[in-house]
Amino acid sequence: MPSNDDHQQSKPRTSDSASAPQLCRDPLSQTSVFLAPRRGERPIELGESADASSSSAHARCPFCSGNEQLAPPDVLRFPRVDAWQARIVPNRYPVVGDPGYSTHGNPQPDSLTRPAVGMHEVLIESPHHDTRVEQVHPATWAVSWQAAWQRMQAFADRPELRWAMLFKNAGARAGASLAHVHSQLVALDFVPPVIREKTALLEHTPTLHQQVLDQARSEGRLWAEEGGLAAFVPAAPRQPFESCLMPLSPEAHFHHTSPETVAAIATLTHRYTTRLASLTESADYNWWLHQAAFDTRSGVPGWRWHLEIMPRLTQLAGFELGTGCHITTMPPLHAATLLRGD
Ligand SMILES: [Zn+2]
Repeated sequence: MPSNDDHQQSKPRTSDSASAPQLCRDPLSQTSVFLAPRRGERPIELGESADASSSSAHARCPFCSGNEQLAPPDVLRFPRVDAWQARIVPNRYPVVGDPGYSTHGNPQPDSLTRPAVGMHEVLIESPHHDTRVEQVHPATWAVSWQAAWQRMQAFADRPELRWAMLFKNAGARAGASLAHVHSQLVALDFVPPVIREKTALLEHTPTLHQQVLDQARSEGRLWAEEGGLAAFVPAAPRQPFESCLMPLSPEAHFHHTSPETVAAIATLTHRYTTRLASLTESADYNWWLHQAAFDTRSGVPGWRWHLEIMPRLTQLAGFELGTGCHITTMPPLHAATLLRGD
């Protein structure tokens, strides 16, 4: 089964219009699908037959220090001189074409398909062949979040980009295809449905995010609070140990948050992964950072960017796919108690 993750290896990126990613919309389900045929060419390192820890896998890993020539040139590296701790490179197999790419043509207004436009990059979170966040030195891990923070600002400064997200696929069950620890950054020229829906909820109830935090605190689902950031188990977690990290004050965009909060998200995500590994014997997981549309600016009162963390302990099956609802076995209060270490 193809993985959903990204990696860079030796194939050059092509710019021919035939392979340019497309965005398809289904009129029945209103689902949007990115059609990116070249992603099918990606080599898969993780999976049933993979041996990600072998020395040969390490030697050809495009994310390891010393193998920089196997990945595209970086757009950002920290520190800028001497040995790097974190770097951001273009994704070799992007789900979107570059903004300004001129050979897409002009789709008909009623077309169900149009060029998919944006930026898709990879954040390499360690120069070493660490495969789990909890293996990364905390100082190096903090540098990765600083890099993401800075790159988000660069996306927001581009008028053709309307929204961006950081996300992580950790482990094969979460869709990762390369073992070396990394996240991805994707910026789009449109606001995806999930963000439009969250914005509409806040337009109706501007205090919604504050209410979510207050309820988590009063019900005992808060498991940490640090640097202006709260970590809690949602009221209706879709998986055991699902968590959300959210600023204590309204803050629509991640790149506007303080250095103290950037440090706190590094601390809390490192703590979470360490705790999750001890509670579940290294469960795979995804996380994604949601924020308001860039052109929203501060126009939607109450918006708080937030990181949703979803362990992948059970599979999505027919019930979930057919109803849009989820089934979990662990009460949220119990999960919060275990994550606090009570
Ligand atoms: Zn590596």
